[in-house]
Parts: sequence; C-alpha cells; structure tokens
Amino acid sequence: MIRGTIVVDTQICKGCELCITACPQDCLELSPGLNQKGYRYAQLKNDTCTGCVNCAIVCPDCAITVYRQAKKPRSVAVTA
Ligand code: SF4
Ligand code: SF4
Repeated sequence: MIRGTIVVDTQICKGCELCITACPQDCLELSPGLNQKGYRYAQLKNDTCTGCVNCAIVCPDCAITVYRQAKKPRSVAVTA
C-alpha cells in the first residue's frame, strides 16, 4: 500500500471538518488547541494515510498539502 502524509497550514484551517469527513482512512481529527483565529484545526491522528488527496481536494481553503512516499524500485528475481 502506498504510504502518505499531510501537512496542514494550521493558521489557514478554519476547522470546517470537510477533510475529516472525506478521508477514507479515518486518519484526521480536529486539534485540541486553537490557531490564532480561534479555530481548532485538522491534524493526523494515526499513520494510515495513503496519500489519496481527498482531503486536499475538498478543503475550501487549500490548507492541506499531501505527500506520498516514493515507490521503491521493484526487485527482480534472477535465475541462472
Ligand atoms: S490524503 Fe487521503 S488518506 Fe491521507 S489524510 Fe488525506 S484523505 Fe486521508
Ligand atoms: S477542510 Fe480545510 S479548512 Fe476544513 S478542517 Fe480540513 S484543513 Fe481545515
């Protein structure tokens, strides 16, 4: 499975929870703390992110950047 992770711009996020609803891996939650505008912000709650980008697509404020782990080159079986 492809591994991914996200970075949330916590000062842009307004805590609307759209990304939390859109995440098929249920790996997002709202922070306990507040940003400078007084909003709780989205954050990862576990390491099950696949980098599917759903959260970034639905975010109305473009507050999420998604990163995917680079694919490892396939190993090739060699027979003599
Ligand atoms: S990239 Fe996909 S799996 Fe990862 S947090 Fe966003 S919606 Fe969830
Ligand atoms: S969709 Fe965007 S603004 Fe809404 S909680 Fe998620 S990161 Fe924050």
